[in-house]
Amino acid sequence: MGLSDGLPSPVTDAGRAGLAAILTDPATALLAVDYDGVLAPIVPDPTNSPPLPGIVPALARVAERLGAVAVISGRPAQVVVDYGQFSREPALADLVVFGHYGLQRWDARTGLTSPPPPAGLQAVRSELPALLAAHGVTDAWIEDKAVAVAVHTRRAADPAGTLATLTGPITDCAQRHGLAVEPGRFVLEIRPPGADKGQTLLAYAHERQARSVCYIGDDLGDLPAFDAVESLRRNGITGLTVASGSTEVQAVAARADVVVDGPPGVAALLRALADALT
Ligand SMILES: [Mg+2]
Repeated sequence: MGLSDGLPSPVTDAGRAGLAAILTDPATALLAVDYDGVLAPIVPDPTNSPPLPGIVPALARVAERLGAVAVISGRPAQVVVDYGQFSREPALADLVVFGHYGLQRWDARTGLTSPPPPAGLQAVRSELPALLAAHGVTDAWIEDKAVAVAVHTRRAADPAGTLATLTGPITDCAQRHGLAVEPGRFVLEIRPPGADKGQTLLAYAHERQARSVCYIGDDLGDLPAFDAVESLRRNGITGLTVASGSTEVQAVAARADVVVDGPPGVAALLRALADALT
């Protein structure tokens, strides 16, 4: 099958093979996407991040044809589910939303599975205000995420400088309590070590017995999922990595087979993929 109009041409041979496999045998393909920066535009206030209008219906059109579709986010799974309103789309009845990089799992059919909060998180939570104050930071925002805690500097007067100031002290604090720090776009997230989007993608690809995997991400936390696609390729499973381009994180675009222009570019890609599969 040739590539249809509107589908981008991957820049690597492996990416071209991944896209071709998805088009040839969609029933064994897994599509996994990040939420923020991929389905939803990045906004200054992360407590209100609706998906780009029309993108969830486009995802549903693709889901009708593919073996499996999943969302893998650093946010709590229920938050992504509430923003995404995925249950409005009958074609997303098999959707799985992984939250906290995979610590939490929401199945459209059975609901949310969540582990207890990690030991040490309460101590980190209670130490953070004094830690910020000790470094002269008064304009960072601490987000309580139940099984993680995030420190955002996007709305600080100097987002990059404040992030740089806090990275070392917050990493030390997290490690003292047996936790890990996941850096992101003007955010440091303190969470249990071990779960990352790569492990989650590998486990779900195995669960669904996928023969091809496409992952779309935009941030540093998505790079382990790109690593996972490369590891799958070494084991005979074709893959395609897509970066939802951003000027903030060029490391992701540099690693991807395809770069699209943010959530509008993702929506166009999903529509082109759905057209090509119809
Ligand atoms: Mg993201």
